Amino acid sequence: MQFNLFSKWPIKSGYPFLIAGPCSAESEEQVLLTAKELMKTPVNLFRAGVWKPRTRPNSYEGSGEQGLKWLREAKLQTGLPITVEVASPAHVELALKYGIDVLWIGARTMVSPFAVQSIADSLSGIDIPVIVKNPINPDLDLWIGGLERIYNNGIKQVAAIHRGFSTYDKSKYRNKPLWEIPLELKRRFPDLPLLCDPSHIGGKRDLLLPIAQKALDLNFDGLMVEVHPSPDNALSDSEQQITPSAYSDLLNQLIIRKRNAEDSFAFSSLEELRNIIDKLDEHLLETLAERMEYAEKIGLFKKENDIAIFQPERWNDVIKRVKLIAAEKNLSEDIILKIFDFIQKESIRKQSGVMYGQSEIIKIKSH
Ligand code: PEP
Ligand code: MN
Repeated sequence: MQFNLFSKWPIKSGYPFLIAGPCSAESEEQVLLTAKELMKTPVNLFRAGVWKPRTRPNSYEGSGEQGLKWLREAKLQTGLPITVEVASPAHVELALKYGIDVLWIGARTMVSPFAVQSIADSLSGIDIPVIVKNPINPDLDLWIGGLERIYNNGIKQVAAIHRGFSTYDKSKYRNKPLWEIPLELKRRFPDLPLLCDPSHIGGKRDLLLPIAQKALDLNFDGLMVEVHPSPDNALSDSEQQITPSAYSDLLNQLIIRKRNAEDSFAFSSLEELRNIIDKLDEHLLETLAERMEYAEKIGLFKKENDIAIFQPERWNDVIKRVKLIAAEKNLSEDIILKIFDFIQKESIRKQSGVMYGQSEIIKIKSH
């Protein structure tokens, strides 16, 4: 997949790309007031849900088509482009009817490939940006699958939003960030715009700033924040919504770092340091290759002298020794043990190759 960058979006954007607005469009006054207040702060896209996926029935389930009319009015009065959540082809049809600029697929919908595919099918031949939240369960492949379903159906303006993951164990977060998952997505698809939704990760106002800051420090492309004129009275997600002025304070408090060090003095210093790292990586690999040559020599010796390949005492001695050295050199024991687990398994693999030939190699899975 080759994703488009925000620079190719029909929406003007700076950095970070900012989406803000209420969890739900509750009334015309609430929508218009929020949009007008947000116009005084940096914002690229106005968000609001009109169909709300709720955990239990008989909760507020959104304003539906009427909400779309309020959003259209907000766009007319402020010029802000609008995004809403869609969960079915019927939602897509209505959103398009009311001139919604960007669609987003929510975390609950993302767990169902049938639902995502039906949304993708309903978008055939339509050129509208789609933002894909992560599924509520921590499953990177499912997230990528959802992005692919949309992208493969011809929607080329795709972005992803990290909104945290639901886990059975409790934590201070409403949805655990598990940052390694969005980072792996970004590593695999560097061109895919990746935003963070600190509101649904935190679930509480005081967590928004540290989460948003962390996202920017990790080079996320933007943020989606829930903003409501009177958060305590919100009909959904009241604990995590913030007022437009708190949103403005949040943005002021964020440290916006350079995304890379190009065109600055810092760049040449960074390059120098990176060159040293590259040299050290070469040394590491040379040393590793040499270590493996010796492992093979030992394999040959064991073969000629009928000695078993796997010697648990030796394995444990190596681990004991590297633990001591790691402590001396202030290296994390956990990481060093993982690395040496791989190295020793690779040594056994090499030695078994010497003993039996390539076809009978012993592979030990790493955990
Ligand atoms: C929302 O953004 O209001 C929402 C329902 O989000 P999510 O799908 O991430 O739960
Ligand atoms: Mn919400």
